[in-house]
Amino acid sequence: MPDLTSSIPELVKVVKTARDSGRSVGFVPTMGALHAGHLKLMQEARRENDFVVVSIFVNPLQFDRKDDLDRYPRTLDADMDMCSTVPVDVVFTPSPSELYPHEQLAFVDVPDLTSHLCGAFRPGHFRGVTTVVAKLFHIVRPDRAYFGEKDAQQLAVIRRMVEDLNMPVAVVGIPTVREPDGLALSSRNKHLTAEQRQLAPLLPQILREAQSRLDKGERSASAISRAIKLMFRKYTELRLEYFEIVEPRTLKAVEHVDGPVLIAGAMWVGATRLIDNMSWPVETETN
Ligand code: AMP
Repeated sequence: MPDLTSSIPELVKVVKTARDSGRSVGFVPTMGALHAGHLKLMQEARRENDFVVVSIFVNPLQFDRKDDLDRYPRTLDADMDMCSTVPVDVVFTPSPSELYPHEQLAFVDVPDLTSHLCGAFRPGHFRGVTTVVAKLFHIVRPDRAYFGEKDAQQLAVIRRMVEDLNMPVAVVGIPTVREPDGLALSSRNKHLTAEQRQLAPLLPQILREAQSRLDKGERSASAISRAIKLMFRKYTELRLEYFEIVEPRTLKAVEHVDGPVLIAGAMWVGATRLIDNMSWPVETETN
């Protein structure tokens, strides 16, 4: 089993011991309820670093809805089992009062990248993410930190935070791990009923539909968007929150597609909100 600590000074001490002996440090921040997507991040961290730290922290600062925070799955025993298969060296599970001993007055914000896509629907969410990730970077001081492309806006925002604030860490993006039917793995998939689970793959399907329209030569984002919205008409239990074609780095909406883009969407299935994204053109893997 990996070492487990909830204490900042203890974590700082074990990482310092590793670093002082010349070992490189890889870091995977998570909110727990670990699945094969998180596993891929941890495995990549293991491959590229001598010492691997995983944090499990359901960060209250980034939740815009109390019900979402309250029902977020917490599965520490199973998470530890998964961490030990990698294996990671230490799992850091701070309590909210360990990370926020008093009211947080200092924040990190990247407003230009967070006013649209998910940011438009989740006020304060990305400020909570960048603030906690900056705190964790200062505590762990990793050489490399691993984030999923599944949360593409989060990855872009963190890359920009690191760049603009000269944080001494390399940010590594990891491709999205999916179920056989295309649904991106997410801790929130646990909330879906069997019926909702059947409907959820519509989200990756609309992204693929957009890719295929672009492949066929369609260049108007609004024409694609109109076609996608029509696909939702027959499903009363699904609600498309947004569908956008954006420039991958700035995340600004693109109307005429004449270069690489990110196609991103968020969909409600009952009371559960799912997000996903895909790139275009589709990168073919070369061996
Ligand atoms: P979370 O615990 O949801 O905050 O996610 C922790 C990290 O795992 C984030 O960097 C996510 O982008 C990443 N992640 C979540 N789901 C997946 C997935 N299906 N594939 C790859 N990475 C993922």
